[in-house]
This record gives sequence, C-alpha cells and structure tokens, in this order.
Amino acid sequence: MALHAVNPTTGKEIERFDEFAWKQTDARLTTAAEAFKDWRLTSFAERVDHMRTLAELLRRNKREYGKIMTLEMGKPITEAMAESEKCAWACDFYAEKAEALLADEEVPTDAKLSLVRHEPLGPILAVMPWNFPFWQVFRFVAPSFMAGNVGLLKHASNVPRCAISIQEIIEEAGFPRGTFNTLLVGSRQVERIVRDSRIRAVTLTGSEKAGASVAAVAGSEVKKTVMELGGSDPFIVLKDADLEKAADVGAQARCINTGQSCIAAKRFIVEKAVSKEFISLFVEAMRSLRVGDPLKEDTQVGPVARADLRDELVRQVSASVSKGARVDLGGKPARGPGFFFEPTVLSGVRKGMPAYDEEVFGPVAGVITVPGESDAIKVANDTRYGLGASIWTENLEKAIRLVSEVEAGMVFVNGLVKSDPRLPFGGVKSSGYGRELGMPGIREFVNAKTVWIGA
Ligand code: NAP
Repeated sequence: MALHAVNPTTGKEIERFDEFAWKQTDARLTTAAEAFKDWRLTSFAERVDHMRTLAELLRRNKREYGKIMTLEMGKPITEAMAESEKCAWACDFYAEKAEALLADEEVPTDAKLSLVRHEPLGPILAVMPWNFPFWQVFRFVAPSFMAGNVGLLKHASNVPRCAISIQEIIEEAGFPRGTFNTLLVGSRQVERIVRDSRIRAVTLTGSEKAGASVAAVAGSEVKKTVMELGGSDPFIVLKDADLEKAADVGAQARCINTGQSCIAAKRFIVEKAVSKEFISLFVEAMRSLRVGDPLKEDTQVGPVARADLRDELVRQVSASVSKGARVDLGGKPARGPGFFFEPTVLSGVRKGMPAYDEEVFGPVAGVITVPGESDAIKVANDTRYGLGASIWTENLEKAIRLVSEVEAGMVFVNGLVKSDPRLPFGGVKSSGYGRELGMPGIREFVNAKTVWIGA
C-alpha cells in the first residue's frame, strides 16, 4: 500500500510513499520506548531549551513549512504560515508554563507530607487529521514533550510530507532520537499499534467514526485516550446583535481553512426579526471572499483537500436543496481542475436536511431561522455534536445566561471560536472527551501520583 500526496489545487499526485511494513513500525516503537527511559529523566530546563529552538524554527521557516501544507492539503498560504507561527506559540507557552503546571501539589492530610506528583506515562500514539496538519500535531507535541512523554505520529494518509517534515523539524531542534517518530502507516495498522504494550495512551483528532473505533480498541486494552472529534458548531445571531460584525465574522468563521475546521461555524441560527437583514449581509460577506490558487497571498478560500470531500459537499448541498433549502449563493463545485467548491449560503435550512443534521466540512453555510431566543438554543443543542458555539448579542447579561444553556465544550460571545494555547480545547457529546491545550491539556497524559509520607 502506498500513501499518496495529491495537490488539491491541480488534482495531480505530487509524490507517494510506501507504507511501513510492521517491521519498520516495530523498530520505531522500540526506539520510542528506549528514548522514553532517558527523556522522562530530563530536567525542565533541558526540555525548555529544545522547545524554544523548535518554536524558533517554526517561526523562521514558516514560509517553507506553509508551502508544504498548502501543496498537500490546499489551505491558503497565509493561513498555513500563520499555522506554523501558532505552533511556535504553543511551544513557547508550554516551555514557559509546564514546570508550574506540573509542579508537586501539597495536600494537607494526617501525613507528615502528602502531595500529588505529575509523572509522564510513556510513548503516546497521536492519530491526526490533515486539516491543520502542523497545528494538530504540535498542540499534542508541546505539552507531551514538556511533561516527559515521547510521541509517535500516525498522520492522515494524504499529508505524508507534512508528517515527515514534522519529524525532521523536531530532530533539527535537538530533541533526542526517538522522542518523536512518524509512522507512515494507513489506518489499518492503527489497531495493532494501539494494542502494542509499548504504547501507553492514545490521542486522536478526527471524525467520530475513527474516534469510536480507536477508543474501542484502546478501551479493550485499558489505555487512556483523548478524543477530539467532529463538530457542527452553532453560530447564534440574536435580534440585538451587531449584524454587520456578525455577518463578517460569520463568513470568516465558516470559511477559514476553506471551511474544513472542526470549530468552523456550520449552522447559522438567526432570530426571525433580523434574519432577512442578516442573510443579506452574510451573503455579501461570503461573496466577497477571494477564491483561488492557495499559493497566492491574497487568496482567502482554496480547494477542499480531496476529491471525495468535494463530492460529499455536492451530496449534502443537493440533498438539502431537494428537501427545500434555498441557494442564496454558490451551491456547486467550481469548473476547472482541482477540488474547488464555491462559497455557499443555504437558507431555509430545517431538521432532516444534511445541512442541519450532518457535519458539513467545506465553505457551505446553512441558515436556520427561528422565532426566538429559546428556539435558538433548542436548535443549537439539536445535534449529536458539542464542540464550539458562538453567540451574538449586545446584551452581555443575556449572553452569560445563554452560555450555560449551550451544550458545547467552548462558547464564544461576539467572536470567532478559535483555539488558544492558554485555554482548554475540546468537546462534549459525540465531539469527544478530554482536553487539549491550557492546563488540562498537559495533565491528560500524566500519572497523578499520590505520595504519602508518614511521620
Ligand atoms: P478521519 O478520516 O477520521 O481521519 C483522522 C485520522 O484518523 C487520520 O489519521 C486517519 O487515517 C485516521 N483514521 C481514520 N479512520 C480510522 C480507523 N478506523 N482506525 C484508525 N485510524 C483511523 O478524519 P479527517 O477526515 O481526516 O478529519 C476531519 C474530521 O476531523 C472532522 O470530523 C473534523 O471535525 C475532525 N477534527 C476535529 C478536531 C478537534 O479538535 N475536535 C480538529 C480537527 C478536525 P487515514 O488518513 O489513513 O484514513
């Protein structure tokens, strides 16, 4: 089996790699287990040194790394370069904070001294998606390495050059051999890797289907998992919102990464009193996005990453339209080579349509009009997912009340849902469990060891 990198802008293959035979995977597992023995004993100061160098490389070479991402999965180059910088931010954040976040915590008891100590678990397998091919990996790497764990990456099959480059960058930053290993394998080898006794825990970012399958295997081996899965984030526009701002940010929230983000706004839930005005402003904001060659710096929307993902958008839009949704903008793939899909706005979206029921992974917004605020919350929660949510209102008291009513891991008021190394990131319901980033992110893969010392 080979892993194919296809440029989504042209539809042509760039390069291909042979998948690892088990023997090669096995050798990397051994290397990781060996590397852990030393890495777990390194001081925070030593880890910080490497992490700072890593951040420096990610900043300095953002254009080079950005181009690798853009060629393999089609994200606009400005976003790809920003992604490299954001990875650097996560490295710096954990370099600065890890020691304090993992410091011993004394707990007064009847002992002379009792405390909680945070110790690394060992080699962690990261199964990662293609949509943020650097960010998803580095937001795992930075806290895990600082905690003393080592990592093995099974990246998505369509971004093998990104996977290889990440290993090279980490090695260039001076991390000891084996601290990070890329496994060039397809998803069929994952079960065997998860079951291997050298792997101590698993983190997966991807679809609900992949998450359920990997979590089941890990569960049967009693291994800790963190699952960052899909989302169908509501973007709730109440009648007292700043509509112009909501429409502009809404277009960005839907189309960032060409709409292929777990936390992209996917369902626009708008109070009837302002729905006509919002739709008209929103359609204009979506229309004004520049679609084109993602290597050009003024491009805002590129192709989607694979032909099958574009075909899925075609199915979701046409099934929604056949059930009564109205196309206010776009609605079809662009002509010519590559996997382009026009920025699209569907209005009159209702339950029973894919634009309401499913995760739509591309630049397609569904607008759902509701009579009032309580219906907006009901619709927002009427999904199997619970990742992010955005609420737009000028009444902050109301916003704070509504925050508690939305079933989501992250709620942003009057802003775009985004990840930030300082804040925990993750979901509820079928969007997964566990948290990345912030303090919880670095504590996921540690042994909270109780220490009790008698008099
Ligand atoms: P995907 O198909 O689930 O793939 C994600 C990773 O899982 C890839 O490495 C894939 O390998 C692997 N995989 C797929 N099926 C597997 C299985 N049965 N057993 C073991 N591994 C398996 O997802 P995607 O299409 O790449 O990414 C899009 C999804 O990720 C969306 O649902 C999106 O919302 C979600 N996502 C979530 C977050 C978050 O933080 N919550 C962030 C980004 C994306 P192959 O490529 O070899 O199949």
